[in-house]
Amino acid sequence: MRDNSDLFDDIVPSDAAKAEQPAPQSEASGQWGENPENRTSVMKCPSCGADMIYDAESGKLLCEHCGTQKEIAGKTSEELDFERLLTDKGGWKESHVFRCENCGAQEVLDKNEIAKQCPFCGATNIVETSELPDIRPNAVVPFRVALKDAASAVKTWVRKRLFAPQKFRKSAKPEKMQGVYMPAFSFDSQTYSYYTAVLGKHYYVTRRVNGRTVQERRTRYFTVSGNFDMFFDDVLIQASGSIDQKSLNKLQPFQTNDSREYTGAYLSGYTATQNSKSGLECWEEAKDVIAGRLRSAILSRYVYDEVSSFRISTQYAGITFKYILLPVYVGHCKWHTKIYNFFVNGLNGKVTGKAPVSPLKVIITILIAAGVLVGLYFLFRLYGSDADAAEYLAIAGKTCGIL
Ligand SMILES: [Zn+2]
Ligand SMILES: [Zn+2]
Repeated sequence: MRDNSDLFDDIVPSDAAKAEQPAPQSEASGQWGENPENRTSVMKCPSCGADMIYDAESGKLLCEHCGTQKEIAGKTSEELDFERLLTDKGGWKESHVFRCENCGAQEVLDKNEIAKQCPFCGATNIVETSELPDIRPNAVVPFRVALKDAASAVKTWVRKRLFAPQKFRKSAKPEKMQGVYMPAFSFDSQTYSYYTAVLGKHYYVTRRVNGRTVQERRTRYFTVSGNFDMFFDDVLIQASGSIDQKSLNKLQPFQTNDSREYTGAYLSGYTATQNSKSGLECWEEAKDVIAGRLRSAILSRYVYDEVSSFRISTQYAGITFKYILLPVYVGHCKWHTKIYNFFVNGLNGKVTGKAPVSPLKVIITILIAAGVLVGLYFLFRLYGSDADAAEYLAIAGKTCGIL
C-alpha cells in the first residue's frame, strides 16, 4: 500500500485550485492532450480562468462561466497488445479513488476534483481511499447525449414502469443523474477451432397401439466435426462492480470502434467508476462469450433438432485489447430500503434499469382483466348464440394461458 500523504496534499476542491494554484504548464502553453502524463486534467478557460468541463452536446471543453469552447485534440484510440495486460499496473497517476461509505461504489476522479455525492445511491459520506486506480484507460467513448436529454429519456422509461409502486416512480430524479464512465475491456482476437458434435434430427413413425394409429417421435443421431476460423472484433466485457454485464449489454452499442484516445479532458466534470475486475479476469469472461458465439456460428451450419454433445478446442492469435471508458448516466430510485439503479447510454440515450413490482397493482389489473372477460362472456350469452359464447370461452382460456 502506498503512502498516501502526498495524495492528500493534492486534494483541493476545484474552486480553491482556481484561486491558489498556478495553472499547470501544459495548459499555459496550450499543449492540451498531447502529453497527458505531465499535467492535471482540470482545464482552465483561456479567456476567464474558470474551470472548463467536457460538454456532451458539442463534444468540446466548455467554460460554463463565459461560454468559451475548446476542441479536444484527441485521436482515434489504438488496440494494445495482449502482453500489456500482464505488465501494465497502476499508471493512472492523474487521478484518485473515492469510496461511498453507504453502498461501497468506488469512483475515480481527476486529482483536482473531489467526490461530493455517490452517483449510485445519492449518499454524501464519501471518503478518499489510499487505493490507486488500476491501469490507465487508453480509450474513451465520450458522452454525446446531454444530461437534459438523458433525463427526458428516463422520464419516459419511468412512465412505462406501469407495475412499479407510485412511491418508487416518484423517487426517480432523472435531472440529478451523474455522468459516470464505466471501465470495460474490449478484446479482438483471431480464433482457430476444432470441434466435434453429436446432433440429433427428429423423425416420426406411425404405429398401431391398441387398435389406434399413433405417431411416435424418434431421433437419429449423427456426428459432425471440422475446423472453424473466426475473427472477433471488440468483445466488450465490463470491469466495474457497479453495473452488471446484463445491464451493460442492454445499453449497447457503444460504437467502441469509433472510440477516442483517452485524455483527462473527457473526465472534466464527470467521474469514472473504479474497476473491480482485472484485465485478465475480463479476458476469461471474453473467452466464454467467444465460445458461445463460436458454438452458435458452427451449429448454424447444420440442420438438427437437438445437440447431444458439443466439444470445441480453440486457439487464440493476435489478441489485442482496449481499456475503455464507456459513457453512462447513473440515477437511482428508492423503494423501502432498497436502491434501484437506472442507467442511460451517454452515446445513444438508451435506458435500462430494474424496478420493483407492486403486488397491489398486479392484483387490481388481474381483477379488472377478469371482470372484462366475464363481462364479455355474458354479452355473448345475451346477444350471440351459445356456440359463440363457448368459442369465446375457449379463446379467452387460451389467451389467459399464454399470459
Ligand atoms: Zn471562461
Ligand atoms: Zn453510494
